[in-house]
Amino acid sequence: MKVLLADERGFCFGVERAVDMVEDALENKETVRTLGPLIHNNEEMGRLSSSGVTTIAEPVQIERGETAVIRAHGVTPEVQGDLEERASKVVDATCPFVTRVQRLASRAAAEGRHVIVVGNPEHPEMVGVKGYAPEHSFVINDSSELADLPKLKNPLVVSQTTIKAKTFFDTADAVKEIAEGETEVINTICSATRDRQDSARALSGEVDAFIVIGGKHSSNSRKLVAVCKEKCDKSFLIQTADDINPDDLEGVETVGVTAGASTPNWLIDDVVRKLESL
Ligand code: SF4
Repeated sequence: MKVLLADERGFCFGVERAVDMVEDALENKETVRTLGPLIHNNEEMGRLSSSGVTTIAEPVQIERGETAVIRAHGVTPEVQGDLEERASKVVDATCPFVTRVQRLASRAAAEGRHVIVVGNPEHPEMVGVKGYAPEHSFVINDSSELADLPKLKNPLVVSQTTIKAKTFFDTADAVKEIAEGETEVINTICSATRDRQDSARALSGEVDAFIVIGGKHSSNSRKLVAVCKEKCDKSFLIQTADDINPDDLEGVETVGVTAGASTPNWLIDDVVRKLESL
């Protein structure tokens, strides 16, 4: 069976960087503890935990002598300060794209402006960003929530890195209509998700079947399957090579492979090896 890989697949820049930083700390023989799971992939988490990496839920769980890792989503300045006080070392693996949103929010707040962040207020990335402008910022899912906010003054509108562009721009337009003064709009959406979808879409017309590697509960991975199905009926979501069902691929000569942004390369390699052996 011929296997064709989507150009953009697997680990995004921010996740790869975070995993590399953890690997460096392990090489230094540090006791590594991540605040929250480093990555939404069970197999990679299993690999890291077998190398000694443990996860904590609260900064209070970290102890002297240990290295605390801030994952790609970032944290509030308070949480970072707490970790710095308790741990012997803090590895800040906040994705630079997220750091940018934090800095923009902090700058606008310092100028006395309101900050509208379009995103899910419950998402850890948004909790962290909100901490950079606690008094001045509002995290909202979309424009329908604007009615609940106080009068906005010279607002800055930014976004969670992973939301849909349409939601962001529709909300920004609605802010412009109701805000006092000038509204500054800065698109802080990261292109990793869209790049993976575009790349899968481009390949899906050339193959008889498509395998997407990612978590069964990952909405990004499920969306990748939906994109592949637009042109390729036989598109399947699997977590590991063991999930490949040869019956699904009967008569298939060329198969496409892609993977969600939390899927490590070693899992992709396993799947490719298995497909090539069929
Ligand atoms: S999806 Fe984008 S913003 Fe999020 S960690 Fe990956 S590269 Fe960074």
